[in-house]
Amino acid sequence: MIRYRAGWILPISAAPIRGGFVTIDRGRILRVSTGDERPSAPAEIETIDLGHVAVLPGLVNAHTHLELSWMRGKIPPSDSMPAWAQQLIALRREQSREPSAPIAAAIAEARTSGTALVGDVANTLAADHLLRDSPLAGAMFYELLGFNTTEPEQLVANARDALDALQPQAEWTRTIVPHAPYSVSPDLFRAIGKAAGDRPMSIHIGESRDEITFLRNATGSWRHLLDRLGAWSDRWEPPGCGPVEYLDRLGLVNERLMAVHGTQLPDEELRRLAGAGATLVTCPRSNRWTGAGTPPIEGFYSSGVRVAIGTDSLASVEDLNLFGELAYMRDLAPHVPAKRLLESATIAGATALGFDKEFGTIEPEKRAALIAVRIPPGVEDVEEYLVGGVEPDAIRWLDTG
Ligand SMILES: [Zn+2]
Repeated sequence: MIRYRAGWILPISAAPIRGGFVTIDRGRILRVSTGDERPSAPAEIETIDLGHVAVLPGLVNAHTHLELSWMRGKIPPSDSMPAWAQQLIALRREQSREPSAPIAAAIAEARTSGTALVGDVANTLAADHLLRDSPLAGAMFYELLGFNTTEPEQLVANARDALDALQPQAEWTRTIVPHAPYSVSPDLFRAIGKAAGDRPMSIHIGESRDEITFLRNATGSWRHLLDRLGAWSDRWEPPGCGPVEYLDRLGLVNERLMAVHGTQLPDEELRRLAGAGATLVTCPRSNRWTGAGTPPIEGFYSSGVRVAIGTDSLASVEDLNLFGELAYMRDLAPHVPAKRLLESATIAGATALGFDKEFGTIEPEKRAALIAVRIPPGVEDVEEYLVGGVEPDAIRWLDTG
């Protein structure tokens, strides 16, 4: 058992506690108390004074693609997302398999920047054994694409077999998910939806303006790309609506949906996600890199939708530090309270991934996956400080007792 004293404790489920204590027992949080209370624990419990730090729950990166880590810095920023994606497809074809070393380095980097839990999208199983042996927990989303596939059920059955052949791991859930409205046929969406059960369903939607055009009338850059790849299907009728309504018609808009990006979603579609209890996962630095546009961060929060945060892959972001996403969100949305941004980086992501009973807040019985962030002298508003950008050298993990 260990008791920590810290300049601030941020339970997330309650206001920051100045000069608080958190007691940990065998990997679980036993108690959180204020500095005013005399800790009731027996005197023999070791108390470690962490000094001028803020203790908070390990962060949640709700959307990344660890297997693409080898692409770091290889695809320059673009002002057109389909043009950027085309470069990614071309680059990916140069490799017969996703190399392990950059994945292992990315996992280590996520960890040193304070990440406890991830939603990792995978088209291959290259990251699986590395994640299994890592201190991270989370949801692995095995992602399928197929716009002109004639055997959607078979595609899903094959993916299921591949997942079933993996070694089970208590810290990980594994689910089959669809990529995006411009890369997955309606029948494949339905087949995946049927197979997902009650697991979270991560889907890239509303990322670029080109996607909105494509759904409206089957024209634009995504159509050209499908034609060029030989993946277009004449059977597909454009639905003539926005991406959320399209997914709703396919039965996929519900509390399990993680709508990733939403950069181009109008308010009414955001409110529709909110009404269904879905989660919007924003990856603002990736949107800037790929040319998808500037996400309406204030609009996300004012719509009432649950907002979680992802870095996306190292192909479209400079690092896997979620504090970097928070700092960019703060620039884009100066009026959103810092408390809301911190909830997005913790409990909102944990809830969307189905891990909110274990992660996301500092409350008794939850996992003691806690970080301490060094706070410079003179800081009064610790929440605001934390959304201003924190470098890994100011972050340490606490021993779990
Ligand atoms: Zn993604």
